[in-house]
Amino acid sequence: LTTTDLIEEHRICVCVRKRPLNKKELTVKDLDVITIPSKDVVMVHEPKQKVDLTRYLENQTFRFDYAFDDSTTNEMVYRFTARPLVETIFDRGMATCFAYGQTGSGKTHTMGGDFSGKNQDCSKGIYALAARDVFLMLKKPNYKKLDLQVYATFFEIYSGKVFDLLNRKAKLRVLEDGKQQVQVVGLQEREVKCTEDVLKLIETGNSCRTSGQTSANAHSSRSHAVFQIILRRKGKMHGKFSLIDLAGNERGADTSSADRQTRLEGAEINKSLLALKECIRALGRNKPHTPFRASKLTQVLRDSFIGENSRTCMVSTIALKTSSQMLSICEFRVKELTVDP
Ligand code: ADP
Ligand code: MG
Repeated sequence: LTTTDLIEEHRICVCVRKRPLNKKELTVKDLDVITIPSKDVVMVHEPKQKVDLTRYLENQTFRFDYAFDDSTTNEMVYRFTARPLVETIFDRGMATCFAYGQTGSGKTHTMGGDFSGKNQDCSKGIYALAARDVFLMLKKPNYKKLDLQVYATFFEIYSGKVFDLLNRKAKLRVLEDGKQQVQVVGLQEREVKCTEDVLKLIETGNSCRTSGQTSANAHSSRSHAVFQIILRRKGKMHGKFSLIDLAGNERGADTSSADRQTRLEGAEINKSLLALKECIRALGRNKPHTPFRASKLTQVLRDSFIGENSRTCMVSTIALKTSSQMLSICEFRVKELTVDP
């Protein structure tokens, strides 16, 4: 391992989570091409046919920091991904955790919680679990004496525009001053005193995110949702944790649509996911020049990609037939992740 590898090792964590097959997939007996044979390996079994028409499975192996199979709970995923980053923000660092994946693969379930059926429960999502541990950490003597205050923001980036989910989707401007400090003007930053306060904000934000939409998932699959937990000491930022439910990565390719708006949205998503990839890789390599300006998403996250103590973690959610996605997930790392069979 070189020094660069060590820095990257420490700063970037790339994980994969496979969701269980749903009723429909089980009923139609869809082919499941993904298995997770151990805690850090994903195998893809691609059905192929030889010239003599005999069928076989082509197996490929990918290695990640962690691979979570379909029996893994949110709590377990959280423990190995976002949980270590809670320490980072108490140590005056910047932390970022993303859910990346195709629409329907489980991003919102992982980050926001369970929204299937009637009883919507955001208490088991990574947003809420991280908040719970922030309040637990605050009670530790070492941190208690710092007298930190906790704040939360929740906003959405849609087609390159920022909307405040805690303020009736007010459209916000992003400004960059001469010192390259980025500011989202007027973004509501609410003080929170306990986990319950945070759950209420998540509920408010979620209902705001989906209200007035004919199809909630169609809209949310085209926007990034950013939930932030900010620690302040005497008003000054001490640490910040950004937790992000990204737009569906399948839409990136959707730039051939006849509908101009859809095409523009697709291009914007493409651009932002690519910029994100570049910024994360730059962080891993400890590069001084991070291309954060390439998209609104990376621009508003700028302060998380620079600085000594920045860490990021990605949970790539996958479903039963996500074979083509594996390479795109691997691109988030500088290090080679494919293992020869
Ligand atoms: P995305 O946000 O990536 O579009 P969702 O989180 O909305 O996907 O998940 C799609 C559906 O699959 C939802 O009904 C969700 O409840 C269900 N689901 C996703 N992940 C899991 C999981 N790990 N366990 C159980 N159900 C899941
Ligand atoms: Mg979603």
